[in-house]
Amino acid sequence: MNLDDCRRLDAQDPLAALRDQFILPEGVIYLDGNSLGVLPRAAPARIAQVVAEEWGQGLIRSWNTAGWFDLPQRLGDKVARLIGAAPGEVVCTDSTSINLYKVLFAALSQAGDDKRRVVLSERSNFPTDLYIAESMCRERGFRLELVEADALASALTDEVAVLMLTHVNYRTGAMHDMKALTERAHAAGALALWDLAHSAGAVPIALNDCNADYAIGCGYKYLNGGPGAPAFVWVHTRHAGQFEQPLSGWWGHAAPFEFNPHYRPAPGIARYLCGTQPIVSLAALECGIDTVLAAAPFDGDHGSMAALRAKSLALTDAFIALVEARCPGRFSLVTPRAHAERGSQVCLALQEGGSGAYAIVQALIARGVIGDFRAGDSRMPDILRFGFTPLYLRFEDVWNAVEHLVQVFADDEWKRPEFNQKLAVT
Ligand SMILES: *Cc1c(COP(=O)(O)O)cnc(C)c1O
Repeated sequence: MNLDDCRRLDAQDPLAALRDQFILPEGVIYLDGNSLGVLPRAAPARIAQVVAEEWGQGLIRSWNTAGWFDLPQRLGDKVARLIGAAPGEVVCTDSTSINLYKVLFAALSQAGDDKRRVVLSERSNFPTDLYIAESMCRERGFRLELVEADALASALTDEVAVLMLTHVNYRTGAMHDMKALTERAHAAGALALWDLAHSAGAVPIALNDCNADYAIGCGYKYLNGGPGAPAFVWVHTRHAGQFEQPLSGWWGHAAPFEFNPHYRPAPGIARYLCGTQPIVSLAALECGIDTVLAAAPFDGDHGSMAALRAKSLALTDAFIALVEARCPGRFSLVTPRAHAERGSQVCLALQEGGSGAYAIVQALIARGVIGDFRAGDSRMPDILRFGFTPLYLRFEDVWNAVEHLVQVFADDEWKRPEFNQKLAVT
């Protein structure tokens, strides 16, 4: 594969025009949309309108006249289309961490009993998920059991109340088989709770088809909702009207404006709202979600996310092939090669004995190729992480990113002292 091949692929790309939906900085190849999505072109004007008109002029009337009040549900219905859920099953609210607290609490109340005292998860799950689970287990008398991904199925014993997993691993980009693991969990009598932080907007998800129980996901990664955007939460309808909301704020009340002294939870997913919603942030999130929904017409008969997934796999395949061809012997591929087992990112580790992953990432960033670094531990190597967002990335960008990587090794550029100083956010 060469630059001409990449340009040919771009010329044939049915999704090419979707790039115009974004404001991308000049001279940047952005391979970090899995951490913070880029700015939708529609967002600045929409945010300005919310501030100047809806807040500035409408003031409190805007809760009714500008549709503020049901924004979490309206956006939730849009997210539902991306995750294999139905309208009325999702709300956009709070952060991923807080939503995890809410759904894990509910799942433990439902599935836990005297014999089922275990929350099962993966050792390399995202830390906030493990921290929330750890403290909740401590508070509620459960035990958090962490195993490697390939040991999950055998660890699903009759002591497990909840299987809590992140669908696509934040470090490695490895993707679980949601349907098979959910089935295994149910066969063992456990509930299945999925974190979709690195999946929503990146890979096809079929929550109802997989028969999952609870799911949460992030608004600022592949949904392009802006820094700290509200997250989302889904519950299978078989639990509707039953599941618990531990943060029993007034927005999850059946009738918040009755101002009744006693809590009575709303019947459906609205129960998972807690307090007054961040309207400006929700407005920005809607612009982001809309950029992903704009790909839906290209799916044809293939269903949700098919076109984006096809391009994502083609981009990541091209990146892997070019790194292997042009930087031979330098990296090992941490991300699974099989399509069914990977999300929309590619992670590389330096080959045996190599060090300097952090400095290489910094040298790439100085060249305008923005990926990120995740430190290893005794079990995992340091990794270079590259997220591929098919909405705006071109095959030519993939070529250029690898060309910069080649250059970073020429003349030992990455060994310069300025690339070896750790910053607070990596
Ligand atoms: C990004 C991410 C989060 C982020 O949680 P916040 O509450 O938004 O900070 C949580 N879980 C996973 C798996 C993630 O990838």
